[in-house]
Amino acid sequence: MKVLVINCGSSSLKFQLIDVETEEVIVKGICDRIAIEGSRFVFSALNKETIDSKIVLKNHADAMKIILETLTDEKNGVIKSLDEITAVGHRVVHGGERFASSVIINDDVIKAIEECSDLAPLHNKANLTGIQACKKMMPETPMVAVFDTAFHQTMPEEAYLYGIPYDYYEKYKVRKYGFHGTSHAYVAQRAAVLMDKDQKELKLIVCHLGNGASVTAVKYGKSIDTSMGLTPLEGLIMGTRSGDIDPSVLGYIGNKENKGLEELMKMLNHDSGLLGLSGGESSDFRDIVSAYEKNDERAVRALKAFAYRTAKYIGSYTAAMNGVDGICFTAGIGENSGLVRDMICNYLTYLGLKLDPDKNEKRGKEQIITTQDSNVKVMVIPTNEELMIARETYKELKNGK
Ligand code: AMP
Repeated sequence: MKVLVINCGSSSLKFQLIDVETEEVIVKGICDRIAIEGSRFVFSALNKETIDSKIVLKNHADAMKIILETLTDEKNGVIKSLDEITAVGHRVVHGGERFASSVIINDDVIKAIEECSDLAPLHNKANLTGIQACKKMMPETPMVAVFDTAFHQTMPEEAYLYGIPYDYYEKYKVRKYGFHGTSHAYVAQRAAVLMDKDQKELKLIVCHLGNGASVTAVKYGKSIDTSMGLTPLEGLIMGTRSGDIDPSVLGYIGNKENKGLEELMKMLNHDSGLLGLSGGESSDFRDIVSAYEKNDERAVRALKAFAYRTAKYIGSYTAAMNGVDGICFTAGIGENSGLVRDMICNYLTYLGLKLDPDKNEKRGKEQIITTQDSNVKVMVIPTNEELMIARETYKELKNGK
């Protein structure tokens, strides 16, 4: 049984065709720079040469068309007809309070996703474009929406409410939602396997450290708190996002520099984080690390602030769960940077946590990186959101029958 996984961004469409029984990735690829000059199509099929071509992609429908045509192409394709695709799983960023789990897409669901768009205008609109393009080309194939926010719907009220007038929650559902849920859920599942325990016995903290970054407290298999909020701006210092700040900073800078809210929000989302702290050096962690290794003052300050903020969240979630059994690192930075893992874990020795330096040096491999006698296990677990979306799609399909 094959599931096509679609992850649609505003100018890109990533896809994977996965055999859900063997969990083998049959094809993966991307349509990049959609509706921008220099569009590109990459299609990598198992045991075949990768196609990497420049083509005109005017919109997401064009992207879907080239993907489906190539999948069934006699020479480059991997299936004879689109009927071999049992279902399509779509990543959807914001499901609001309406969606606490994945759901089979119908007209009501599409309407509800549109309604949630208020909370994540750019993301949800792009996700809907992918759903509409698929619906048009494969009208009979069931589709499932898998939400980034769904895993966090188990957070208790005391974790998701902001300390502002309750009216705003009642009227507009202003609250913490959290994101990267598919990744946090996948990593927590894998952590339990690595620790040879049931998730229901474990208190875990998952650090998804990529260009966007968030930390989640997963208690007995459920998210009970997470660092991102109403939008992905809250929490950790990220590539270009500020993470937590005192909201008064906006009024203060706005007055000093005569800037409006829109411009200030743009500054917090696009010019801040590692990029802003390093004085415009880079938002890419690899650049920051190589500058740090040359003792570049700006990079040192950015990296130290990134590690400190992450460690602080781990500390607060240890308190939220009254203990922690395992801490997991995932995504581009978390999987690859032994340096940052070491800097973060240095704040946590009070837990009796002992990192194994040799294991911590290894990159991108799923493993426990603490010593045998460490009180808390630290793990590196490469995330796999696409596989999780395929699994969820399969599960919903079986439930729906
Ligand atoms: P993601 O958003 O998960 O794709 O992660 C992107 C981030 O991971 C970027 O900031 C990259 O610089 C960072 N990254 C990727 N590979 C490495 C590496 N080998 N060492 C440090 N950071 C890395």
